[in-house]
Amino acid sequence: MTRRSIPINHDLNAYLQDIGLTEHPVMRELREFTAGHRLAKMQIAPEQGQFMHWLAHLIGARRYLEIGVFTGYSTLAVALALPEDGEVVACDVSKEFTRIAQAYWQKAGVADRIHLVLQPALTTLNQLLEQGQAGSFDLAFIDADKPTCPAYFEACLQLVRRGGVIALDNILLGGRVLSPQESDPPGVHVMHQFNAALKQDPRVRLCVLPMGDGMTLATRI
Ligand code: CA
Repeated sequence: MTRRSIPINHDLNAYLQDIGLTEHPVMRELREFTAGHRLAKMQIAPEQGQFMHWLAHLIGARRYLEIGVFTGYSTLAVALALPEDGEVVACDVSKEFTRIAQAYWQKAGVADRIHLVLQPALTTLNQLLEQGQAGSFDLAFIDADKPTCPAYFEACLQLVRRGGVIALDNILLGGRVLSPQESDPPGVHVMHQFNAALKQDPRVRLCVLPMGDGMTLATRI
């Protein structure tokens, strides 16, 4: 028994994946393809993908909003958990990365439920709000440029339904949020402040997980 989480070393992480990880074959293929990419670290850990998939099932998600697609692994994880009439709005700016994503969405048979919008995500989020889609999403995932994270969060808070979940990735930024240095990029300072502010935010119920590079879950009250 322990009153704090135990540190997870490489062997324990491998063990956890061994006993716990289930992964759709196309997700595995995509993960292995992305591992060879120059920006491979932008992909979430497979257990995070599984968690998002499990969470989408748990809350009976039908509409999913994703900010930051990269090669589409998390998009695929959630899309595979949605019902036939489910819908994903996936926001990104990169044609290069999302072209890879689209090929794998197609292969997994869920491309028709994913609506990819290639423009700055804030523009898309504002358009969704203008179209009257406030409160229409069950789940949102923010995993994009960190300086804009607070603005993404504000928009998502309007776009998810009451009781809906907003997940945020890389809240630890490799540990740099502990004590940001002047030389650190703006994102580190923004996340440091954002993490602290979120705890005081009366609009959400919070749960912070030490998974991947740190993942926060906030449900809209
Ligand atoms: Ca990430």
